[in-house]
Amino acid sequence: MLSALAEPTERDDESTLRPKRLSEFVGQPRVREQLELVLEGAQRRGQPPDHVLLSGPPGLGKTSLSMIIAAELGSAIRITSGPALERAGDLAAMLSNLVEGDVLFIDEIHRIARPAEEMLYLAMEDFRVDVVVGKGPGATSIPLEIAPFTLVGATTRSGQLTGPLRDRFGFTGHMEFYEPHELEQVLRRSATILGVDLRPEGAEEIAGRSRGTPRIANRLLRRVRDFAEVRADGEVTREVARAALKVYDVDDLGLDRLDRAVLSALVRSFGGGPVGVSTLAVAVGEEPTTVEEVCEPYLVRAGMLARTPRGRVATALAWAHLGLTPPPQAPG
Ligand code: ADP
Repeated sequence: MLSALAEPTERDDESTLRPKRLSEFVGQPRVREQLELVLEGAQRRGQPPDHVLLSGPPGLGKTSLSMIIAAELGSAIRITSGPALERAGDLAAMLSNLVEGDVLFIDEIHRIARPAEEMLYLAMEDFRVDVVVGKGPGATSIPLEIAPFTLVGATTRSGQLTGPLRDRFGFTGHMEFYEPHELEQVLRRSATILGVDLRPEGAEEIAGRSRGTPRIANRLLRRVRDFAEVRADGEVTREVARAALKVYDVDDLGLDRLDRAVLSALVRSFGGGPVGVSTLAVAVGEEPTTVEEVCEPYLVRAGMLARTPRGRVATALAWAHLGLTPPPQAPG
């Protein structure tokens, strides 16, 4: 039993696979270069760098990059998330515990509650918070100094951030989907760390089906490794990768069950759209935010779905992918 407990879990794998330094961080050349300048400039001046906002779909490396920022600065990182900061007091407690130069990472910062957000304005600008003591007319506000720190916020929905919050970030890094050759590099690195015998064609096959997302690439690699070890001799060739991904319902474009359910509902139940995202979400039994933040960005990028003011529309490519012919009037 003990030895089983000592075995690393897949969650451990995720943290083992995280790149630890900027030099190990694959892809995102633009964000990397911009960030390097921000960090180096601040270090030369001996100041904490400006607050950083990282935006982009899930799994593209925002959390990893925030940890890298702290590592590059030689600072400690405190991690929290927008939904965890329901009361301003939760944030005040975190802020007052910061040590000079610390990095505070707030994931899903667009989901922060309004009172905490307002407290954050002052903290980001003046390294100060006003703690309100008491209630009603007798309430007083006590200013509290906090140590100069760098806030790193991550969001999948930068459009949902309020103007005042967005304006207080000195730098915004827009994370893009990864190119297949970058994902191959991520996979090679992960295979080395996990001790998987990954052949170049196997890497190519997995990379092409990873929806431009390193987290998905790593997850598929683990599934393909299982298949390779159980049903083959452990070597991940193109054939092994193909056979494994078939078992896991990942199609040749990397669309999974939910992506296909969304496309299929759009095409089959709503004649290709336009249809509102909430209606579409109900049709596939998912939360609208999941459809919007997890499925749609890649379907849009893959040219299968268009977001229009009147709702979601399937493109000709989506119809073709499902093996169907669009009606003549369907938008292409
Ligand atoms: P996000 O915070 O954007 O959802 P994460 O930083 O948690 O994404 O990344 C998910 C996983 O993907 C990480 O554990 C890491 O293994 C891998 N990963 C992400 N970006 C990169 C990258 N640029 N290079 C190598 N691996 C990456």
